Amino acid sequence: MRFQSIRGVKDILPGEIEAVQRLEQAARSVFESFGFSEIRIPIFEVTELFARGIGAATDIVEKEMYTFEDRDGKKITLRPEGTASVVRAYIEHQLNLKAPVTKLYYLGPMFRHERPQAGRFRQFYQIGVEALGTDRPVMDVEVLAMLTAVLNQVGVTAVQLEINSLGDAACRPPYRKTLKAYFKTHLAQLCEDCRRRHETNPMRIMDCKQEGCMAVTAKAPSPLDHLCGECMAHFQQVKDGLNRLKIPFIVNERLVRGLDYYTRTAFEVTTTKLGAQNAIAAGGRYDGLVEELGGPPTPSIGFAMGVERIASLMERIETPKPDVFFALLGEEAVRPMLPVIVRLRGEGVRVEMDYSGGGLKKQMGLADKLGARYTLIIGENELKSGKAILRNMADKSQTELSLSELTQLLPERLRKP
Ligand code: ATP
Ligand code: MG
Repeated sequence: MRFQSIRGVKDILPGEIEAVQRLEQAARSVFESFGFSEIRIPIFEVTELFARGIGAATDIVEKEMYTFEDRDGKKITLRPEGTASVVRAYIEHQLNLKAPVTKLYYLGPMFRHERPQAGRFRQFYQIGVEALGTDRPVMDVEVLAMLTAVLNQVGVTAVQLEINSLGDAACRPPYRKTLKAYFKTHLAQLCEDCRRRHETNPMRIMDCKQEGCMAVTAKAPSPLDHLCGECMAHFQQVKDGLNRLKIPFIVNERLVRGLDYYTRTAFEVTTTKLGAQNAIAAGGRYDGLVEELGGPPTPSIGFAMGVERIASLMERIETPKPDVFFALLGEEAVRPMLPVIVRLRGEGVRVEMDYSGGGLKKQMGLADKLGARYTLIIGENELKSGKAILRNMADKSQTELSLSELTQLLPERLRKP
């Protein structure tokens, strides 16, 4: 019996994982420099949290969630995104009492039952941030600055930041009504999904990629023409802040985001390099969500980055190679050298050796194949004389090292270019 991974779910192998690791490191260091702390949220939650938090009429809740009953008959969902869980944790642990603004980041797998395609998986990874407790536009600017900084740090620069404003509790509902009335007069040109969305989530139609729908949305009323004074001023300050930081962006009036909870600033980072799956990060304000989920009024903003998509835009990073390969000839050599090897590794030296009992020639071949920088050859003679030969694998030059001083001499040698 042979098994295969589930459709749309993939392994990330050595050779691919290095870019992911670098992205994670860059994100952690940038986020922490902005004062964000990590939160580890659970992989599963009660279904109701996502249905409430993300919105019943969204793609995710309507058709993408992995939901099941556990053995107690409780309805459980594998998290399709991180925001609802972070907000749940924020309320549950009363984080609002610990600081006026709570700045959190998370990373890990998300699950959505989508049609698998290039760049679209059923288990995929996100790195996200949430800043809870302020509606000041400076936070929108900082969050976007952070996102830009991470992408810059990993060399993903051929991207576009698109921003929009969706209005607040005052001006969003009338805009939604206007939009609904407009789509009502164009129902025949909309796809089946959008005809349904027209009732439940008309703003989502703006996001549809079907040709007919795109023709209709191109002439749809813009949210920007319906902003109240406060939202307009807020949006202006966000744009001013981005300009002051010299962060390039364009205003995309069609950008709405598929999730229900967004208010005011919404944004997406896109690339032309990944075909149809062109969004590599997305987010926005959700000033009403914390209250919606039973917490105190807490204006908030966040984003999530698509790890696989960003990693695929990064330059391939090589798997680290051994600093030194110990070619040990026989058990007599392995026994005294093992403590030395362990000590070197403890000091951060990448040491490899042979585990299949090969002779000198086979071991040299392996050292070559692994791309070791040096090989240290130790056999019966070397043990007797107390000296071993260190071979530079690039220029084939050889030097003698005293075995008793290896843990000191070898790191010294490796520090030299
Ligand atoms: P899309 O329009 O591509 O479906 P989305 O609006 O559903 O994206 P979000 O929920 O905002 O995406 O998630 C943020 C980011 O996570 C996306 O910009 C994308 O890079 C990534 N992402 C979302 N769904 C998937 C998936 N199924 N596979 C891989 N990456 C994904
Ligand atoms: Mg989606």
